[in-house]
Amino acid sequence: MNNKWDRMERELERLKSDNLFRRMTVFESPQTSQVKVGGQQQHLFSSNSYLDLCCEPKVKEHVRRVLEEYGSGSGGSRLTTGTTSIHAELEDTIAEFKRREAALVFNTGYMANVGILPALAGKGDIIYSDELNHASIIDGCRLSKAELVIYRHNDMADLEKKIKAHPGQKGVIVSDGVFSMDGDIVNLPGLVELANRYGLLSMIDEAHATGVIGDTGRGTEEYYGMEGSVDVLMGTLSKAVGGEGGFVCGSRTLIDYLINKARSFIFSTSLSPATMAADTQGIRMIMEQPQRVQKLQENIRYCCAALNSRGIKAESETAIIPVIIGEEGRAMKVMKLLKERGYYISAIRYPTVARGSARLRLALMSSHTREEMDGLADALKECISLAEYE
Ligand code: PMP
Repeated sequence: MNNKWDRMERELERLKSDNLFRRMTVFESPQTSQVKVGGQQQHLFSSNSYLDLCCEPKVKEHVRRVLEEYGSGSGGSRLTTGTTSIHAELEDTIAEFKRREAALVFNTGYMANVGILPALAGKGDIIYSDELNHASIIDGCRLSKAELVIYRHNDMADLEKKIKAHPGQKGVIVSDGVFSMDGDIVNLPGLVELANRYGLLSMIDEAHATGVIGDTGRGTEEYYGMEGSVDVLMGTLSKAVGGEGGFVCGSRTLIDYLINKARSFIFSTSLSPATMAADTQGIRMIMEQPQRVQKLQENIRYCCAALNSRGIKAESETAIIPVIIGEEGRAMKVMKLLKERGYYISAIRYPTVARGSARLRLALMSSHTREEMDGLADALKECISLAEYE
């Protein structure tokens, strides 16, 4: 008889032999720069909690108060019974932080992208998408009935050539603000100029830009001194903000439209008031303490210099510093050797990045010390060379 599990088992075997099999790591402590994994203390250099706000006492205190008052679940989707004053307060806070008329919260950044893109572009429209955009943007494009046109990474000449090949067609240009696996920053002046010239909507994903770039952490627009220029500014609350949820902000028209059209917003139970409270307090902390952002930016400069001085190529203005290893098996080996030395850094492989460009994706936090970053640079140098000769 035909074994119905054969296909899955064969595929899992293939993944294992290609060094592409994935499993989860269980962390036995909160998400800070020092964590416990497998009973061992590790320096964590791979967290997206860039400003170390997950464990901030003021955030926890606010969450406790809201949890006590509102309980655990929200009890409904946003358009039925799942919008509390705590949800509304978060959206007002996001709009204030990003200096926009209005904001809307989705359950995750992923859900924001898969909800927004099909709402904005449908049959007969075009979505122009950077080839290195995040998977959630790719999936949003796939869900949309619009035609998808991929342009070369951050290449505005290629983008313009492709726009010109579709004269008069409506649509959206979408890009990560900070690219999630390379840590580089979108060419915002070029992208916005093309969008405005050709009557297209500009959409930027601020997941790794919020709380990280711009003097006060307001993200890509602040970095370029172009505040208010992007039509659709989306992001996540799960990284520098230290909580959970996705968001989009822009004009009142945009937000009213998405409330009525974005299916991932409409057809899912809203996040709990306690989660919303964590997000609101996280954003307030960023607004009240820009020195956190500045400390993170100082760490980025220090860490790149520490790596360069040990012969490791590292160049980034964001909290994401990729150290390219190449072959998947070797990247896994370096990760393992680093772990043995007390440094936890995730190796990123295909299909998240292109085959043969496996990397250690270093992510910095504002709370990392210079000693930790020097220690990491020494360990990385040793482990890369060990993995090469083994
Ligand atoms: N966009 C980008 C660029 C991301 O890196 C991520 C998270 N990895 C997301 C969207 C999704 O956000 P969330 O984790 O909140 O679903």
